[in-house]
Amino acid sequence: MTGLDDRGDNCWPVRVLTLFPEMFPGLLGQSLAGRALEKGIWSLETVDIRGFARDKHRSVDDTPFGGGPGMVMRPDVIDAAVTETAGPPGAGRQTPVIYLTPRGSLLTQARVRALAAAPSGITVLCGRYEGVDERVLEAQAVEQICIGDYVLSGGEPAAMVLIDACVRLLPGVVGNDETTGEESFERGLLEYPHYTRPAAWQDRVVPEVLLSGHHEKVRTWRLAEAERVTRERRPDLWAQYRRATGHRQE
Ligand code: SAM
Repeated sequence: MTGLDDRGDNCWPVRVLTLFPEMFPGLLGQSLAGRALEKGIWSLETVDIRGFARDKHRSVDDTPFGGGPGMVMRPDVIDAAVTETAGPPGAGRQTPVIYLTPRGSLLTQARVRALAAAPSGITVLCGRYEGVDERVLEAQAVEQICIGDYVLSGGEPAAMVLIDACVRLLPGVVGNDETTGEESFERGLLEYPHYTRPAAWQDRVVPEVLLSGHHEKVRTWRLAEAERVTRERRPDLWAQYRRATGHRQE
């Protein structure tokens, strides 16, 4: 694990507040993200939330007021963990503090790009049980982000998704900087389909235009395919794209 203190000038620092620090770096220690971590392009500090519990049982959670199933993470413990690591809320705080929760705003590529550009990196709070007491989320001015319309058992896999999405946009992580420009969501479209050798495989051939060497025709075909796939699979994105571009097709 690399701590925030070790960061170089261009290092993107990530701090994760979790009850399960041993889960990290996990998949973030492999492949692109793992190599970038080794190179110091980003750094990872894990903080054990339990270390901020003050009672003799080191409790981090309690039963919900109003009844109901499950447990809720205590505001005093989360408050101490956030303030003592990311600093108190307000103008002096260097890093956005993000709580991953199904109740947050849906994560978008635009938000990922903005977070990856934040020189101060990010602090991520991982929930467990039924989640975190609402008051500390308000008091700490925490941004609430959801990674998709489904419920995970904890915030750690969601944190890994968010961090991975950001890390691959950091300079020097993905080999060819042009690679990310035409990817899904960057232009409001899903990406066009890809093909590689062999040109003929199981009676299926690669679209002729991709073998033509004609760059303009390839570009036109790819845009048409990106539009077709988006129209067929993501009516929500297609409606936004039509509004932005004036594209006629319903
Ligand atoms: N009771 C919560 C609700 O219905 O919104 C779900 C709690 S979930 C079992 C436990 C933790 O997993 C949450 O506090 C959150 O940190 C994380 N989590 C679950 N699903 C998530 C999602 N789709 N996006 C981001 N975080 C998620």
